[in-house]
Amino acid sequence: MKINRNFDNLVPSYLFAEIASRTAAYVKAHPDNRLIRMGIGDVTLPLPPIAVEALRRGADELGVKETFKGYPEYEGYDFVREAVAGYYRSFGVTVAADEVFISDGAKSDTGNIGDIFGADNTVLVTDPVYPVYVDANIMAGRKIVYAPCLKENDFLAMPDKSLSPDMIYLCSPNNPTGAAYSAEQLRAWVDYANEHDAVILYDAAYEAFITDGSPRSIFAIEGARTCAIEFCSLSKTAGFTGTRCGYTVIPKELVRDGHSLRDLWYRRQATKFNGVSYPVQCAAAAVFSEEGLRQVHENLAYYQENARVISAALDEMGIYYTGGKNSPYIWLECPNGLGSWEFFDLLLNEAQVVGTPGEGFGAQGEGYLRLTSFNSRENTVEAVQRIKKLLSSSV
Ligand code: PLP
Repeated sequence: MKINRNFDNLVPSYLFAEIASRTAAYVKAHPDNRLIRMGIGDVTLPLPPIAVEALRRGADELGVKETFKGYPEYEGYDFVREAVAGYYRSFGVTVAADEVFISDGAKSDTGNIGDIFGADNTVLVTDPVYPVYVDANIMAGRKIVYAPCLKENDFLAMPDKSLSPDMIYLCSPNNPTGAAYSAEQLRAWVDYANEHDAVILYDAAYEAFITDGSPRSIFAIEGARTCAIEFCSLSKTAGFTGTRCGYTVIPKELVRDGHSLRDLWYRRQATKFNGVSYPVQCAAAAVFSEEGLRQVHENLAYYQENARVISAALDEMGIYYTGGKNSPYIWLECPNGLGSWEFFDLLLNEAQVVGTPGEGFGAQGEGYLRLTSFNSRENTVEAVQRIKKLLSSSV
């Protein structure tokens, strides 16, 4: 018996364990100092009331013989797929309901999509990167190439003619950098993928944070329907990180190696996935109603204002950063040439603020730190004041 030896090639991730251990050591030594956690990668505001009502209604229906439901359809109920298609229409993008697959989230789908692709494909990811794309493809034994994101390219890597990837993971607005591609930049990726017979795996989990008119979907770009799959999620849009619901869109025109990728994904889901629970799908559909989107935007506005508070302080201090405008993430250059962990320690020990060292997201993250806008307004304002005070005295 042999295990999947590709697991030997995974690089252990100590990032969050190391943050927890350094933070715990600080708290133990200084029990009276109040920490502010600005590395939170999870939402903190509760579900919109309309989603909670829909969850209750769905559960009630399951408790009544006449409305009880068993296994849902693998691809999601029609009413949710229609609601997702309507949501796309609301920002000018056409996708058909039967191109939408409802799932338990973008993490599963961005990781599992590899099931429909051969193991000898080369995968391009950006560096820094959301680690799921890397680890899922290492487990599958694929070769990975890295597109560096640097200050020089505003942390938005562009196609490199010297690499010839088959699968291209793009995430915009990006985790961890918060940077979002413009239509023109996405157009270059779409043209590249169509020319090279590659497929773009586009993670739009943070599209709802876009405020400056940047594309909310790869399908806003002409030509994307023949080269892209889009993953999206209600996690950050509507606070569903614990409720679990996402969606993946695969256009009917997307064909590779003589096969419809939409049909392959349907076959994959039918084999390995039994759908999302009915109450959760009711809640998802409620989120996409007019009132649902109104409630969602109230929560998003709260996080966006926190991001603005952080960005404004960095502007004032003259610190280079990306994100904050179209994203809950702010990716900042550590002052005075400090390394990611050095700056992490400085903030922890001298300002009692906890960030996330950029190095944990890839080699190009060294020298950067990620802050997030998911804490409360009061804590965000205080954290920013503490950072300003610290840097004005020590830098
Ligand atoms: N994609 C990106 C880029 C993320 O940052 C996250 C969560 O942090 C996810 C996907 C996961 O989304 P979900 O909760 O829908 O699985």
